Amino acid sequence: MDLILLGPPGAGKGTQAKMMADRWEIPQVSTGDILREAVKEGRPLGLEAKSFMDRGELVPDRVVIGIIGERLEEKDAAGGFILDGFPRTFPQAEALQEILGEMGRKINCVLSIEVEEEKLVVRLTGRRICRNCGQSYHLVFNPPARDGICGRCGGDLYQRDDDKEETIRQRLTVYREQTQPLVAFYESKNLLKKIDGGDSKEKIFSRIVEVVESDCRG
Ligand code: AMP
Repeated sequence: MDLILLGPPGAGKGTQAKMMADRWEIPQVSTGDILREAVKEGRPLGLEAKSFMDRGELVPDRVVIGIIGERLEEKDAAGGFILDGFPRTFPQAEALQEILGEMGRKINCVLSIEVEEEKLVVRLTGRRICRNCGQSYHLVFNPPARDGICGRCGGDLYQRDDDKEETIRQRLTVYREQTQPLVAFYESKNLLKKIDGGDSKEKIFSRIVEVVESDCRG
């Protein structure tokens, strides 16, 4: 099952992608996670991407298309994948189609998680992430039992550099201008499933399960 998760920053794509990956035993493929890992390790890819990420802008298409081309060839993606944060532009969507076409595969469904903009700002400014296992928390909605410590693995929690309010506004503008048009693009291909993302992560997940298990199994 080859799935795309679309939605603005803070819609809960990463959280839902992890839950989906567990349920259907297919990998979450997050370009944001791959890029952050490259930054952390000081690899050339990270050095190239960091300034764009810090400004809340998109990393150039050729860079992320290269990442996805390699990642989807890996063995664990042979039975399907959940794309989280890719594609974000038309050239990326077109390149994805080409990559999958060459592999004799196609997207089964595109899930668009929809949340109002002011809610996104509140969600993102309170977000904290475990440096060790990537688990996500929220200072108000999902606080860790111990301040600054991950309840799952004991790692330190941190705030992403791009989760500061000014950068968040920029990321939301970039989403509106460059990524949101993909919703209509996938709708015209009859692949789009809209998911109300305004509730708890459990409620959103049960909506996703219902849609995917009834409509997306290719
Ligand atoms: P995310 O974790 O998905 O919110 O991504 C964090 C940042 O990584 C974005 O603000 C971009 O700078 C960069 N990024 C992630 N995915 C992409 C993509 N598909 N295209 C361009 N830039 C990306």
